[in-house]
Amino acid sequence: MTTWLDLPEDTLFGIDNLPYGVFSTADDPQRRRLGVAIGPWVLDAGAAARAVGSPDPLLEAASLDPLLAAGRAAWTRVRDALTRWLSEPAFRAVVEPCLVPRADVALHLPFTVGDYVDFYASEHHATNLGRLFRPDSEPLTPNWKHLPIGYHGRSGTVVVSGTPIVRPNGQRKAPTEAVPSFGPSRRLDIEAEVGFVVGAGSELGTAVPMADFAEHVFGVCLVNDWSARDIQGWEYVPLGPFLGKSFATSVSPWVVPLDALAPAARVAPPARDVEPLPYLDDRDAKEPWGLDLALEVRLNGTVISRPPFAGMYWTPAQMLAHMTVNGASVRPGDLYASGTVSGPDRGTEGALIELTWNGERPTELGDGTSRGFLEDGDEVTITATAPGPNGRRLGFGEVTGRVLPARS
Ligand code: MN
Repeated sequence: MTTWLDLPEDTLFGIDNLPYGVFSTADDPQRRRLGVAIGPWVLDAGAAARAVGSPDPLLEAASLDPLLAAGRAAWTRVRDALTRWLSEPAFRAVVEPCLVPRADVALHLPFTVGDYVDFYASEHHATNLGRLFRPDSEPLTPNWKHLPIGYHGRSGTVVVSGTPIVRPNGQRKAPTEAVPSFGPSRRLDIEAEVGFVVGAGSELGTAVPMADFAEHVFGVCLVNDWSARDIQGWEYVPLGPFLGKSFATSVSPWVVPLDALAPAARVAPPARDVEPLPYLDDRDAKEPWGLDLALEVRLNGTVISRPPFAGMYWTPAQMLAHMTVNGASVRPGDLYASGTVSGPDRGTEGALIELTWNGERPTELGDGTSRGFLEDGDEVTITATAPGPNGRRLGFGEVTGRVLPARS
């Protein structure tokens, strides 16, 4: 696939990617428009459709919501059209005026987040956290390789990249303290994750099998699941994460369509060393849904970690199958995240608690300072790329956020 745009060969937003987002411009800040990123531009998708003489209500919306709900056939049709308009020279004269420099736009939360679920799908992360939180027992709980563990999060506090993160207050109790105290979290952390955006919903009472994953999931974004480890450590027994997680979750503004990730970015997941129950058994799947995303985490500009997504034990298709196996329905705009992406090696941990081993071995930054956990003013940015066609790479943009002091 080629484009009439003059793009550098190594652009992460090439014609094979075309991630969707919602933008506004300074001259009309109230008007939110749907666009796709290409090179250093965003194509105003609604304007382009009008310009070529085929206006599309799905592209005139101020969010991705109608497109998400429209389902797989519409996603394919719209992506094919956008690709044609940006590839065939005959469209250039009318489509080129619909390109806006990305540097000039504000990006917004691209869809209304419905239900939000966060999983725990990295064996390396789960093992590390098990050692840190439960040093006297087996790091992996007995259920871990039988089902993708998850919890229902708080969708109302999912924010778009760039939104400042106010340090949460809460109950903190170190193991050495007899009673908790109240105040700002002293162990604020990140979780580098990959998010899956549900498009087509499912019917209450029915399960979504793994084979129907691509019928329901529209695309992929990056997630930073900010976590207050001191609040989490005190509150999480026996029902799981609550206020240590719900204060904010950041997502990237660009949603990479699933179609952009097939087939180059798809890989077989790790070997299943525990026999999966049939609804989770992907050992003979013709189309495995392991995804070869390479993440990078920067703290105040210093790369502190490069987590690999390809080694995640549970795939997003298994997560969706498990999330609905009891008959729970999904709706357009539901978001589920992978859980912290951590690899097996030093420098591939997706959270500070692992990277710095509970703050005991602080990570060095480029300015000569070091961090165990986040300080006020710190900025964390997560990026990712994946293999695309012909040896090129696809980008996911970034999810970034700066920590503000707690409010009293
Ligand atoms: Mn998480």
